[in-house]
Amino acid sequence: QASLSPREIVRQTECPYCSVQCTMNLHEEKSIRVSRYSVTARKEDPVTDGRLCVKGLNAHTHVLDDRRLKQPMVRGRDGKLLNVSWESALEQIRIQVQSLQERYGNDTIGVYGGGSLTNEESYLLGKFARIALQTKYIDYNGRFCMSAAAGASNLTFGIDRGLTNPLSEVPLAKCIILAGTNIAECQPTIMQYFRKARQEGCKIIVIDPRETATCSIADLHLKVKPGYDAALVNGMLKVILEEGYVDESFVRERTNGFDELAEHLKRISLSEVAALTGISPQSIMEAARMYGEAETGMVFTARGVEQHASGVANVRNFLNLVLLTGKIGKPGCGYGAITGQANGQGGREHGQKADQLPGYRLIENPEHRAYIAKVWGVPEDQLPMKGLSAYEMMEAIHRGEIKGLIILGSNPIVSNPNSHLVEKALKKLKFLLVIDLFESETAKLAHMLLPGSAYLEDEGTMTQLEGRVMVRRAVKPLPGKARLDWRILCDIAQVLGKGQYFEYRSAEEIFDELRIASKGGKADYYGMTYERLEQQHGMFWPCPEEAHAGTPRMFEDGFAHADGKAKLAPIEHQNPKEVANRKYPYLLTTGRVLQHYLSGVQTRNTPELNSKYPEPLLEIHPDAAAELGLVHGGHAKVASKRGSIRLKVKVSSKIRLDTVFVAMHWGGDGCINRLTNPSLDPVCRMPEFKVCAVQIAPS
Ligand code: SF4
Repeated sequence: QASLSPREIVRQTECPYCSVQCTMNLHEEKSIRVSRYSVTARKEDPVTDGRLCVKGLNAHTHVLDDRRLKQPMVRGRDGKLLNVSWESALEQIRIQVQSLQERYGNDTIGVYGGGSLTNEESYLLGKFARIALQTKYIDYNGRFCMSAAAGASNLTFGIDRGLTNPLSEVPLAKCIILAGTNIAECQPTIMQYFRKARQEGCKIIVIDPRETATCSIADLHLKVKPGYDAALVNGMLKVILEEGYVDESFVRERTNGFDELAEHLKRISLSEVAALTGISPQSIMEAARMYGEAETGMVFTARGVEQHASGVANVRNFLNLVLLTGKIGKPGCGYGAITGQANGQGGREHGQKADQLPGYRLIENPEHRAYIAKVWGVPEDQLPMKGLSAYEMMEAIHRGEIKGLIILGSNPIVSNPNSHLVEKALKKLKFLLVIDLFESETAKLAHMLLPGSAYLEDEGTMTQLEGRVMVRRAVKPLPGKARLDWRILCDIAQVLGKGQYFEYRSAEEIFDELRIASKGGKADYYGMTYERLEQQHGMFWPCPEEAHAGTPRMFEDGFAHADGKAKLAPIEHQNPKEVANRKYPYLLTTGRVLQHYLSGVQTRNTPELNSKYPEPLLEIHPDAAAELGLVHGGHAKVASKRGSIRLKVKVSSKIRLDTVFVAMHWGGDGCINRLTNPSLDPVCRMPEFKVCAVQIAPS
């Protein structure tokens, strides 16, 4: 904190949006009656070199918005929300939870979290579900973010950290593959690393069905058909193998499974791959040679590759590419899953996933259960077993198996696939409690709303996309009667008679318990303290001891499987669960735009952002539009097997002829997830957001 003038105070904070977690200065100019806030970038930022994108520059606006929830509210018999005191709200929660659990069992209450929560909140939410509610049902929206990359990294490397190398190594790479990741719009402040790499002679290959803004740095753009990434990589792997780009000593010494992979690749035909993917054999060879010939190289994937019913297999094939060429564990050589959510990395490490306990421990592993039970001071048999993934929880609610739901900082009605079913499910709940900043689409269905905390008011740590843990301090008081999210969980635990397990006076105290809970686990934070994190501008996990410097680059000496080797695996291409047909002749793919974040609760409540992209658009190729009789700025009805919506048309030659794109940030009649396919990946339970078959007509 520094004083510039008697009236101006500057405090350091972090952007609440994407996974880069750019630090920024919040300027508060005080006058007698009001404070005015503005934001500037920080030159000292460890990653961005003093850059902010348009979202970061306007991030404080929604926090100050008058429409923020500022008081607990309960829905009356007439459907209207009534302000109540915290005491009354907490008492009503106690009555609702206890009466439902007495009647239907502990598992009748579910908990739903988010990947934008701090590490402390993520940790506490997992503990809250398992100790205060003793329910097995907890999962979070990160299931839709990183779970496929996490599943693939665990299977291949034995551990899941988003980026295996810090971003500062990107300019050392001589070839970079960006697959299904639109960095220019989703993480704009890190584009500089890729531009710098290109200036240094790096070749960049972008794999995406659309010519996104990220293609401005591409030497080669492979406009792959949605759902055919694994097939494309099989073609590239075949070229790598047959043209002698395999790093034989690396493969021999540091991997298993080469023979099976080589056998599988013999059966791959480039002409078949070309027919499946829409990419010519020449382009496949060109891409493989670019990457194979390069002395150093990095591969990055994001949701375009991962949000499929075969998401884990897709990512594993990219990891085959990395391992076969020995491009990992060295400067300028590695893999990265570009996280989408603010704390997409940390959010999945500390126990808010159905199958995990803190430190990436597995909930069904007896040793892991015993360790966490000891940290929490409960008998091991009191810890519930594994529950269901996010969308499967919605199905369980729809079937009537879960009758109460507590949601913290998430808007599942917009972010889940097949959202008609989700809406119907949430309407069936006997008790829906939402803790949020605004009355989101989901909150509109809630029986009770509690006003939670925004990023300027919260304190805690975030683990950004590199695996770097950073402390974010509170820089502004809470509005009205809003409370800190972690405090709300403690308060509910208290009225449920479990307060003795939730006696924290600060986020730092929660972090100190989290450190112990993570000790010896794969995501080991034990050696980090708030003091160290602040002194060093963040630290990389694993950091097992207080004398440990953290681990910016993974896998220098070995992988995390018991034998220290990574696993190559033959990947059979699988068609998407829905392919185009006579009735539904186009493929729909979804994603983000620069101005918005996730389900839009914050950014749609930011006029500076919303005014620039106020509604979802149907992006369609000019030839397809002409054939359908659609015009730019006109409207179209888009329908899949699950529902239909009406959208404004954006004609663009940047998309494939057979594919249309719609961003996913809107609810209600603009909710594209009413159409998306809830088919799940068998390993990680990721839904197939990125491809489904649709029909389109003028409207
Ligand atoms: Fe940085 Fe991401 Fe925020 Fe933009 S949205 S300012 S890139 S953290």
